[in-house]
Order: sequence, then C-alpha cells, then structure tokens
Amino acid sequence: DYQLSDRINSIQPSPTLAVTQKANELRQQGKDVIGLGVGEPDFDTPEFVKDAAIQAIKDGKTKYTAVDGIVELKDAVIRKLERDNQLSYQRNEIIVSSGGKHSIYNLLSAWLNPGDEVVIPAPYWVSYPDMTKLVGAEPVIVQAGIDQRFKITAEQLRAALTDKTRLMFINSPSNPAGTAYTADELIALADVLRDYPNVLIATDDMYEHILWSDSAFANLPMVAPDLKDRTVILTGVSKAYAMTGWRIGYAAGPAPIIAAMKKMQSQSTSNPASISQYAAAAALDGDQSCIKTMVTAFKERHDYLVDALNAIDGIDCVPGDGTFYAFAHIEKLMKKAGTADDVSFCEKLLSDANVALVPGSAFGADGYCRLSFATDLNTLKEAVKRIRAFAENL
Ligand code: PLP
Repeated sequence: DYQLSDRINSIQPSPTLAVTQKANELRQQGKDVIGLGVGEPDFDTPEFVKDAAIQAIKDGKTKYTAVDGIVELKDAVIRKLERDNQLSYQRNEIIVSSGGKHSIYNLLSAWLNPGDEVVIPAPYWVSYPDMTKLVGAEPVIVQAGIDQRFKITAEQLRAALTDKTRLMFINSPSNPAGTAYTADELIALADVLRDYPNVLIATDDMYEHILWSDSAFANLPMVAPDLKDRTVILTGVSKAYAMTGWRIGYAAGPAPIIAAMKKMQSQSTSNPASISQYAAAAALDGDQSCIKTMVTAFKERHDYLVDALNAIDGIDCVPGDGTFYAFAHIEKLMKKAGTADDVSFCEKLLSDANVALVPGSAFGADGYCRLSFATDLNTLKEAVKRIRAFAENL
C-alpha cells in the first residue's frame, strides 16, 4: 500500500483523456466504436511547419534553449499579438512553455497561495479546477447554462468575487461550449473587475482562430486596455495549427508574473523542446491560410451536427461561435434512458450504440455532453445515425 500525497489525491485524472482511452480499449476488443471525445484537429500539421522543424534538426538546434523560449519564437509571438490583437508586449512579458496546459499550470503555481479563490465559469475546460486544487487554491464555479449560451453575466461575476479572489478564468471561444464572448460582454465583465484590483485575469485564447461568429475575436485586454497589466493571455499553437503533439504554448502578461513563471519552469521542465519551438515560430510567422482551411471544414461539420442533434427528440444544442465542439443538453434523454447522471448516460450510449462522448459533468455541467467534430463528416453522420437510433429505442 503506497501512501500518495494529499495533493495528488485531491484531483482526478483528465476525464476527456479517459474517454478516448476507453474508446480505444473497446476498439482493441474488436468493437466498432466512434470516438467523439478527442480534443484535437484531425488535420495534419502544415508542411511548412514540419519543414522548419526538420531544418532545425539539420542545423543542430537540438540543445537546451533559454528557459523561457528562443528569441525567434518570442518575437514571432510579439508579432502575432500585434497583428491579431493590436496588443504590444516586450520579450520579458512573454514565456514559451511545453503546451498551453503547462503555461496555465505555471501561472497558477506562480500566483496562487493555499486558500486563494479562483473564479471559474462553467462549463469549464476540465483542467482549471484540478490545477487550482493542485496548488492548494479553491475553485469557485459560476454556472452558465444553455439559456445564456454558456456565458456568465457581469452580475454573476460580481456575486462570485470575494476579498479572497485572486484569479478568474475566461475561455473564449470555449471548450466545451463553443460559444465566444462578444466585445460588449467582455466590457461588462471588465466593469466589474475594475472594482476588484487584486484579481488577475487569465484569458485562455486557445481557440482564438477557430471562430466563425459575426463578431471578431476579442479578449479582455483588447477591450479594456486599462486591465492589460492585470491580465495574462494563455494560448498556443496546438489547436490553430494542428500541432497538439509538438507541445508548445505561450503566455503574455506583466513582466514580474512572467518572470515568476520562468522561475517555476527553470526548476521543473526547463525549456520546451527546441525543435518544436522553431516549428512554432514558423507557424506563427508563416502563411495563415492553413487555419482558414481547417475552420471552413469545422464550420461545415458544426452546421451539420448542430442541426442533426436538434432534430433528435430530447436533445437541445445551441449553435457555437467556434472551436470543434458541440455541447448538447441531454437531460430529457437521460430521463428517458433512466440514467441517474450524464456519466452513466454516456456509458450506456457507449455500450449500446458504440459512440463515445464526454459527459458534461466533466466540465462542471451535469445534464450535457460534449461532442467533438474534429472528425470527418461521414463519421459524424454515422455517429448521429447511431445516437438517433439509440434515442428512439429508449
Ligand atoms: N486551453 C483549452 C481551453 C484547451 O481546450 C486546451 C486543450 O485541450 C488547452 C488549453 C491546452 O492545450 P495544449 O495541448 O497546448 O496543452
């Protein structure tokens, strides 16, 4: 019997990865399972990005780099923030990490003390609450249901903030909901945050580019420049450039916070993979039309999937603004199936209909499920056929 730490016992393994693993196991047993659990583009990394990595290897760029990232990549990040977000940063306000997840963990480690509160709008990306607990802080969950398109209001934010709040997350467009805050909605949140000067804003812009709504992408420092020195932008190349395996994320924020994240990184992982850094710099500086190709495909699949799900009795799905996820309300179906919660519903769907989805409770929203449409249209159509047959036979 091994006595593991209280810290590790306070968290769960990532439920989205668990669903993918379960689907793979069933496949290995010979079952014809469709997995709509994955959180990565089904596209290949662009050729010019791969070429840059190969060139880096050939040039011998295979050694340790600066802990917080190579200058070439930091400068590419600075150009990106200027070009896409009209935000200006210096090199000491940027850190490159081993994936977006790593950037977030570094930030929480550098900023939070035990007992500090972190406001997390739900449905949330699975890792925010568990990472918060890992550093001993307290997640404060604010619920936003389908009727508010999964976005919290200024009033809800105000009600959640206390004198213990030290951080709030905003993730827009959101995993799992797919909806994005408009500039006006962010301005309303900013008005509240101005009354709480101790609160740092972590804006997770991972899906910035996977967006098709009429309103252009906005994040907090873009609409409230006075809050820029209280905001850390967290993003990366994983989703926009189909580079999930390369493990490059980055953060932009106030120099003292970035320096603290660097200190954390210097004593844990050191620099992100050198080769991946050169590839990421090429991605940020290169021809951005690769993003458009993917977004066009995601939008087509989104339109199909949302309509098809809404046509099934017992499922409600609001159209998203971006990402590659649909977040469906399934409470009526859960009742029909006699399942007590969305976890057992998704288990039943997997065993009876061979379709793997992630239950909404993994994202802090029981009564929902997340379907990834980072898979081809024919597979999606087959999945919908199975879900419809399952629903009709309940
Ligand atoms: N933030 C959000 C909202 C995500 O969905 C993900 C990936 O699933 C990440 C951050 C982390 O991305 P990475 O794979 O670069 O660690």
